[in-house]
Amino acid sequence: MTARIDIAGITRRYGDALALSGVSLTIEAGEYCVLLGPSGCGKTTLLNIIGGFADPTGGRLTIGGRDMVGVPAAKRPTTTVFQDYALFPHMTLIDNVGFGLRMRGIGRAARNAKAQEMLYLVGLKGADRKKPSELSGGQRQRVALARALAVDPDVLLLDEPLGALDLNLRRSMQEELKAIQRRVGATFVHVTHDQEEAMAIADRIVVMNAGKIEDQGPPERVYREPATRFVAAFLGETNFVPATVRQGRLHSPLGDLGLTTAPEETALTVCVRPEHVGPGRGAPGRVKVIETVFQGVHRRVRVAPEAAPDLHLQALLPVGMDAAPGDTLDLRIDTSHVTLLPAGTA
Ligand code: ADP
Ligand code: MG
Repeated sequence: MTARIDIAGITRRYGDALALSGVSLTIEAGEYCVLLGPSGCGKTTLLNIIGGFADPTGGRLTIGGRDMVGVPAAKRPTTTVFQDYALFPHMTLIDNVGFGLRMRGIGRAARNAKAQEMLYLVGLKGADRKKPSELSGGQRQRVALARALAVDPDVLLLDEPLGALDLNLRRSMQEELKAIQRRVGATFVHVTHDQEEAMAIADRIVVMNAGKIEDQGPPERVYREPATRFVAAFLGETNFVPATVRQGRLHSPLGDLGLTTAPEETALTVCVRPEHVGPGRGAPGRVKVIETVFQGVHRRVRVAPEAAPDLHLQALLPVGMDAAPGDTLDLRIDTSHVTLLPAGTA
């Protein structure tokens, strides 16, 4: 089963500090939603409020149309995979996975059958009798997932579930998590501070900062057209170029950045992704290379444009293109891919 989550104006205070400040969000049934943001922005607090492990100071929460305020965690249609997995070390895997069913009074035969099915689902077939100490970190993560899924939750909550795994394992688990979510059909809410993970896995990314939602939407939309400067900088890398609108064109210290429909004389910040700065004629034109890093698929360079030497730009150049510190190059911003934000936004 699956359920929609409606969060309306949720606030959470800790003393004088505001961990969440008027957060409103709808997560559709069966969606894979990722809460993304820097440490301390309120992700865990929001997840704990959905799961019933923290109370909001104000606001409303419904899951599947049911008001959740005052409903204890165990009575909610949610289960949580905690960051440290919280497995029972003295229990076998089958008992770990069947634990939630036992708490619900399900008999041994039925819960063992379900636990076996779940261990199979997460790729741990045949490991029923092992103990958590016999497993690798990745396998323990799978057991925690199996345990949370065994009770058929409408909503699965995951707090930095892949944080303890190395990069390769993390990438393969991202794919598996998404595949498992598609199979079970539950709504998944997954907390991470890892931008790549969020983009790889999410149907909807919710970018949080300082207790508020800055932007939300499908990964491509949020990456290509970030709603705020914070989102542009946090999700990938962005060059910020100041510009003013004159006669329907964007005038910047780097030169003419093309046509715009923004009102005359508006001061704007032009967000330029490094992958949209490449060889060619146009703005910024002649640049001096300050720094280069070979990154395999491309060469990352930091350059000082002759037109505005203090306005350094990051660019991703083809590796076949020679560029060493001190060289001069002709570069061009692909103005069809820039995003415009009001000037001076935080
Ligand atoms: P995240 O998961 O994004 O790193 P948290 O939700 O854990 O952030 O924390 C958000 C803010 O609330 C932080 O400033 C944190 O210090 C504060 N906070 C979280 N839990 C508590 C608590 N139990 N007591 C006091 N402050 C807390
Ligand atoms: Mg957290």
